[in-house]
Amino acid sequence: MGHKATVCESIEPPGSRNTTISLPLQFTDTVQELLPLFKEETYFNHSLHIVPRKAPRGFSSYNKTESYEVTRFRSRFFGSVVDSQWNDWQWQIQNRIRSFEQLGRFLTLSPEERAAQQSLDLHFPLSITPYYLSLFYDKDACHPLRKSMVPQVFESLNSEAEAADPLGEESQSPVPGLVHRYPDRVLFLVTTNCSCYCRYCTRSRVVGNGDHNHSIPMIDRWNAGLNYISSHSEIRDVLISGGDPLTLSDDQLQWLVSSVRKIPHVELIRIGTKVPMVLPQRITPQLVRILKRYHPLFVSIHATHPDEITKESSEACCRLADAGIPLGSQTVLLAGINDSVETMRRLFHALLRIRVRPYYIYQCDPIVGSGHFRTTVQKGIDIIRGLRGHTSGYAVPTFVIDAPGGGGKIPVMPDYIVEHANGRVVMKNYNDDTFVYPDEKAAGNMPEAILWEGAGI
Ligand code: SF4
Repeated sequence: MGHKATVCESIEPPGSRNTTISLPLQFTDTVQELLPLFKEETYFNHSLHIVPRKAPRGFSSYNKTESYEVTRFRSRFFGSVVDSQWNDWQWQIQNRIRSFEQLGRFLTLSPEERAAQQSLDLHFPLSITPYYLSLFYDKDACHPLRKSMVPQVFESLNSEAEAADPLGEESQSPVPGLVHRYPDRVLFLVTTNCSCYCRYCTRSRVVGNGDHNHSIPMIDRWNAGLNYISSHSEIRDVLISGGDPLTLSDDQLQWLVSSVRKIPHVELIRIGTKVPMVLPQRITPQLVRILKRYHPLFVSIHATHPDEITKESSEACCRLADAGIPLGSQTVLLAGINDSVETMRRLFHALLRIRVRPYYIYQCDPIVGSGHFRTTVQKGIDIIRGLRGHTSGYAVPTFVIDAPGGGGKIPVMPDYIVEHANGRVVMKNYNDDTFVYPDEKAAGNMPEAILWEGAGI
């Protein structure tokens, strides 16, 4: 028996009589309706073949904004692939690089990568879109984007503190595929697929292996999640994530987002995705038209390094922003990839230029085999200190540690306060100069209070 929810839709234009109708919703009743969406594994056909397709609508002039790196890569390796194929996100998905053997066609493996090929039983798959590979195929193994995507042998080293589920998500999942950690919001994991797999992924225990690792089909998990949200009126904010939700088809996404939007107590929908950076072709005019129907809808973009900000990713982000979708970024702090003030500043400036507000820097979670990616916590604090006051406040995200065991995000700040006592706060500014703020209210000697009491008011 499915949970019933009621949705109110205005049937009058703004300014006229305020009339509403009630529509009953029963999520489990929609299973039959949904089944056709799952009939074809269109997007995750892993063979490396080229399927001619018509150019997606709105992409006729896309080539004018192709990055130089992309043009060079295409002419070298995909000379026979026409624009309408290259700019088709489904072609990009179908032609992902999925193995070391395929990768060897484009670049020379380093000793660390070769050792990974020989010794690693890749529990977490390798997958890189041709577009994203074009950004680093001719760079050495130390290149930040290459390090974040190509497995190195260090993944086989584990430490005691590491865990497959360091954030305790499984223990906070009341139904499969939904994490309810904070009182008023939930994380709705709607797919286990991504277009590219980041080697440091917090959810590598579930992501990348498709549905066959799950006994419950995805369609049932969607319905279970929707029923749960619907029956918990305290939930006002739903973060749709995965995997990467933007690897779902337009029809699947529309069904999901509209179903969440129909739940009366959900105020805010957020989508967490790396797609604009690794598969910008996915941000089609049609997708944007779908998403903009369900405002307030925010998109959180996983951005790693300034080299990801290309003409293609810029166009994708601007297209979302033009649809009134507020964009924020999330960046994992990664050793040898983005762990310097200079790199982070370049990334955040570049994001602001394409209307993405830097939102979070995460301390890298202690997932199994992540030692070579993790930095000290002090590194993150130093980066914030190097940004705050030295550049626009909008370019300074919050540095957080997602507390192991499921404690949630905890902000970690540089300490600017030198002393706080006796009605005085002694502080250092960004330039290390000292200033004193009179905290008179805390000391109980506010002159205004004395004045007003004396006036008998
Ligand atoms: S895009 Fe996100 S979910 Fe997918 S592999 Fe990267 S970090 Fe994991």
